[in-house]
Amino acid sequence: MRVLFLGTGTSHGVPVLGCACRVCSSDDPRDSRYRSSVVVEGGSGETVLIDAGPEFRLQGLRAGLSRLDAVLVTHAHADHVHGLDDVRPLTRGKVLPVYASPDDIAELRLRFSYAFEDGQEGGGKPRLRLAEIGERGIDIGSLRAEAIPLMHGRRRVLGYRIGNFAYLTDCSAVPTESMRRLGGLELLVVDALRPRPHPTHLSLGEALDLARELNPARLLLTHICHDLPHAEYEAQCLAAGLPFPAAPAFDGLEVELPS
Ligand SMILES: [Zn+2]
Ligand SMILES: [Zn+2]
Ligand SMILES: [Zn+2]
Repeated sequence: MRVLFLGTGTSHGVPVLGCACRVCSSDDPRDSRYRSSVVVEGGSGETVLIDAGPEFRLQGLRAGLSRLDAVLVTHAHADHVHGLDDVRPLTRGKVLPVYASPDDIAELRLRFSYAFEDGQEGGGKPRLRLAEIGERGIDIGSLRAEAIPLMHGRRRVLGYRIGNFAYLTDCSAVPTESMRRLGGLELLVVDALRPRPHPTHLSLGEALDLARELNPARLLLTHICHDLPHAEYEAQCLAAGLPFPAAPAFDGLEVELPS
């Protein structure tokens, strides 16, 4: 199984439009972050996208993406779904399942109403099927995906576990029942917006504390804003003295995992 980071930035991306701070003007390529999203590829080529942010087309081109078997949506905030229309070229000849929570399915039906209504024939619409993932999860080829409920401020959102990989973007708290479902991970990816606390996201310190509790084989951080350069995030991860490797992710990073 392979995990590819298409984007690792917070909602406005980094650099931030109109900002000249040291991160936004950094020449370290790891300080350029598209909106957060990953692709997971199984051993038989099955390909799952988690979230389709506003840069999805650019991210897909950069990654050479040519196949999608399912999309998993964490929540319907703009930075996670407004690139959903751009999956269109990968839905030729098939209908692409898009899994989300019932509330987010209702939001996606509104935002992308044209895709679910009759009319506008002759192309121009992504062929999507919105579906709930359910308690037991779903199988996408050899990949088994489970939804992991998380709190994003007061909003209930989803993280996902696929085999021994868990992706928990956009969260400020992980309910006890979800913590129980996150044991034995090879790779944990967690929201770590910035060093200072935030009402709807984990801070760097909170993310490291959460990881310490879950004790994965490896930790990577995502949904990062422009408060701290990549190199300093890396230094703080090292200084935390965790018993497993921990680092901020960056766009284009690929991780190979035992399936
Ligand atoms: Zn977000
Ligand atoms: Zn900035
Ligand atoms: Zn969000």
